[in-house]
Amino acid sequence: MNRRALDELKQQIPLLDYLQGHEWQPARQLSRGRLMGLCPLHADQKPSFLVDTSKGLFYCYGCGRGGDVIRFAELYHQVKFPQALVLLRQWRGLPPLLHETAGFYRMQLHRHPEAVAYLYQRGLRSPELIEHMRIGYAPGGCLRGWLMQVGYPLPTLCEAGLVTASGYDAYTHRLVFPLDSNLYGRSLSAAAPPHRFLPGAKGGLYAWEQVRQCPEVILVEGLFDYAALW
Ligand SMILES: [Zn+2]
Repeated sequence: MNRRALDELKQQIPLLDYLQGHEWQPARQLSRGRLMGLCPLHADQKPSFLVDTSKGLFYCYGCGRGGDVIRFAELYHQVKFPQALVLLRQWRGLPPLLHETAGFYRMQLHRHPEAVAYLYQRGLRSPELIEHMRIGYAPGGCLRGWLMQVGYPLPTLCEAGLVTASGYDAYTHRLVFPLDSNLYGRSLSAAAPPHRFLPGAKGGLYAWEQVRQCPEVILVEGLFDYAALW
């Protein structure tokens, strides 16, 4: 990869986006574009991780490490430079993977009567609505095999958060609602945490682009509320 391609990659993946995609949150702002938070690279007690968003650089006063988004990916995933580039390119290319995943989950919905029964119980009974919202079902234990069969390597699936570090499907017994850049998973089981998202931005208001020109908008809290209103 030449210098220009590297710069391009860095431009496409702002450091802050990537950090936030990996659950990093700034604790405070030092000055415009300079943020301080806990270091994701070592067990940090007080915020010692500085991020300069305009330069796309980080530096940790605790562990003394710093650099750009590529360097961060190397350190965070403990991989060498070429592998970090692969991971970053995959992260940038997430939407096709989510599309594929959502399609697979939609296929599963109609194979699992318990999932359809749950939708009914929550008042979602119209097949058109289920189609419109592209609602699917994650039974667990089959997504990884499917995606690898269609050509996605395992590290890509782990990086996207679809497969856990121990190799299992991250979403199990969950209804899945595709968002712009994420998948919302609602657990059918009371034993599991009810709401789950993949790492990364959860997106803003659902369906906002479709209604932003409307003179009046009704805002609801969750996707089930939206579906029920519909
Ligand atoms: Zn550190």
